Amino acid sequence: MKILVINCGSSSLKYQFIDMEGEKLLASGLVERIGIDGSQIKHEKIGMDKYIVKEDMKDHKAAISYVLKALKHEEYGVIKDLNEIDAVGHRVVHAGEKYAESVLINEDVLDALKDCIPLAPLHNPPNIIGIESMKELLPDLPMVAVFDTAFHQTMPEKEYIYPLDYKYYEQYGIRRYGFHGTSHRYVAKRISEMMGKNVEDLRIITCHLGNGSSIAAVKDGKSFATSMGFTPLEGLAMGTRCGDIDPAIVTFLMEKESLSPSEIDTILNKKSGVLGISGVSSDFRDIEEAAKSGNKRAELALDIFNARVKKYIASYAAIMGGVDVIVFTAGIGENSVSNRAEICSNMEFLGIEFDVKANEIRGEEKLISTEDSKVKVYVVPTNEELMIARDTLALVK
Ligand code: ADP
Repeated sequence: MKILVINCGSSSLKYQFIDMEGEKLLASGLVERIGIDGSQIKHEKIGMDKYIVKEDMKDHKAAISYVLKALKHEEYGVIKDLNEIDAVGHRVVHAGEKYAESVLINEDVLDALKDCIPLAPLHNPPNIIGIESMKELLPDLPMVAVFDTAFHQTMPEKEYIYPLDYKYYEQYGIRRYGFHGTSHRYVAKRISEMMGKNVEDLRIITCHLGNGSSIAAVKDGKSFATSMGFTPLEGLAMGTRCGDIDPAIVTFLMEKESLSPSEIDTILNKKSGVLGISGVSSDFRDIEEAAKSGNKRAELALDIFNARVKKYIASYAAIMGGVDVIVFTAGIGENSVSNRAEICSNMEFLGIEFDVKANEIRGEEKLISTEDSKVKVYVVPTNEELMIARDTLALVK
């Protein structure tokens, strides 16, 4: 069975086309600047040069028709006919409390996703448009929605209810939802396979450290706690997002600078985090460079980022009654030797015996604690698209 995985953003669309026999990636690509001047598709048939088409794409439907054309392209394509696509898996950010697992898409599902728009006003609308456009182009194709929030629906109440007046949970659904669920689920499952254990028998802390970062405590194979909350703003210090701050800062700043809700939202989401602290960049490679050449605020940004990851790891070990394995994934988790080393330094009290030499790797599955370390530490590259394709296969079968 061949599955197309689609991830629609507001002006972009990422896709992968996977042959589930052997879970082989056949093609992948990215459409950028949808609905903006200068739209283009970069398509790659695995093993070949990129095929780039610059053409106006006024909406997501136009973008998807270019994706389908690229998949069928004489030279760069991987199929002869569209009926070789057996199903489509869509990444959807928010399913509220409605879905704890992936689902086959029908009208009821689409309605439920529309109901969740107030919870994810930037993300759910393009996700829904992607689904609707695909449906218009290929109406008979089965489609599955895989949610970022779903994995975390198993958290106990004490982890998702905020210490606010309970009526706000009842009235507006204000609670912790958590995000990056597909990634946390993928690496938790993968690490249990690598260790030759049942995922249910491990206490796992998964650290998804990328532009957006979150940590999850996975106990009995289920998400038990996670650092992102009602929105993806809570938790760690991120590229441009502030993560945990005293909520009183929000009203203080709004008053002092006469800011509207949307202005303060932009400050917290786009101008904070390691970008805000360093004033250099949101990209950790740039910040590392700056810190190396003596930029004190870049150094401070890295220190703050690492200290927060450390704090979450220790607190998640505490609430699970211990930890067996810690996993690093996503851009920074997979590639940043120095961040991993710093996060795992002075953690012997927790049972971590870090292996500095083994840690000298990027982007591969590897044990980076000693073999005898009581708590193992691994790097496991994430693969959300494969997880989406697997869920799609399971539901379509
Ligand atoms: P996204 O949330 O956009 O999917 P990624 O998971 O791709 O983000 O992570 C992007 C982050 O990973 C960037 O901050 C980038 O600097 C960081 N990163 C990528 N490669 C390296 C590297 N070699 N060393 C340090 N950081 C890296």
